[in-house]
Amino acid sequence: MTIQESRSRAVAHLHQGIIPSYLLAKLAESERYSQAAEAARQTLIAPAPAQHRSQLRLSIDENGSLVATVEAAPNRTISDAHNTETLPGVVVRTEDEPTVADVAVNQAFDGLGATFQMLLDAFQRNSVDGKGLPLDATVHYGTDYDNAFWNGERMVFGDGDGEVFRGFTGSTTVIGHELGHGVVQYTAGLEYQGQPGALNESLADVFGALTEQHLLDQTADEASWLIGAGIFTPAVHGKALRSMLHPGTAYDDPELGKDPQPADMSGYVKTTEDNGGVHINSGIPNRAFALFAVELGGKAWETAGSVWYRALSGGLSSSATFEQFAKATIKEADDVSTAVGDAARMAWASVGVIKATGDGRSAA
Ligand SMILES: [Zn+2]
Repeated sequence: MTIQESRSRAVAHLHQGIIPSYLLAKLAESERYSQAAEAARQTLIAPAPAQHRSQLRLSIDENGSLVATVEAAPNRTISDAHNTETLPGVVVRTEDEPTVADVAVNQAFDGLGATFQMLLDAFQRNSVDGKGLPLDATVHYGTDYDNAFWNGERMVFGDGDGEVFRGFTGSTTVIGHELGHGVVQYTAGLEYQGQPGALNESLADVFGALTEQHLLDQTADEASWLIGAGIFTPAVHGKALRSMLHPGTAYDDPELGKDPQPADMSGYVKTTEDNGGVHINSGIPNRAFALFAVELGGKAWETAGSVWYRALSGGLSSSATFEQFAKATIKEADDVSTAVGDAARMAWASVGVIKATGDGRSAA
């Protein structure tokens, strides 16, 4: 199998991994990071398991009626794959059990809990599906596996190669991002291709950033707006995988290249790679959200996050374009107040998705 073929397979299988295949492909060719290059090649070739939809947990009450029990508390189970690619692995920690010696297990447990709490506090959403879906995760997936992903049913974390990527459980934004894909799956179900795909990626980043900000109780001004801070080793010239506020500035490394994200529509990348640039063009709606949240001030998961969430869950088409999503958020923002509506218009106009007009209003 050529690198090109393995990249295509990786695109098909790892489409919701936090590490985009173009970055792994670059790393696979690295001479400086030889161990990481081998790990990246293996990660590209290893197929991620097929997706399965979770089953609803239903029961029959004493009158014989079907009931769905909604319990607004997380129900987490962490398993250990022991460096194999067999899922789910061995259960190592369940909801009521204390911390264990393995740091990755506890980090995954805490990250799932932080995401659950943010969804509940900010959007009154009971878990990823809104119906109390148990949150399952597997750690130590594969050997030197350079990715973390949501497979439609559980979160799966590799340990990283140790040379370029550290383990992925330590990043709250990575965990919030991957579970965010679950929320998108259960709401608009945005297609993972082209503009709706880049929106899917962007919304996952929004959930990731909000999870971290909620955990740290940060205001929009205080937040880093970085996704995946700390997943690179100190050898890499980069602070994170993506910057929502300043797309294109997260890393610039001699071996990995420069963060390819555009900050506005003038830099929109037309490509067949990366499912039509889903991890690249997501920078544009990412910046719109960060600008909107910073303009409003305060905690981003409150007004700004709620506007985005209501636009996502309020009948958005699975094939929505940036402009259609922008219009949906502006409608929700106008329902809050004129000032919030104008801030949303300004944010989308700043990234070129809608046209600005003289009085701050636009045709969108
Ligand atoms: Zn993603």
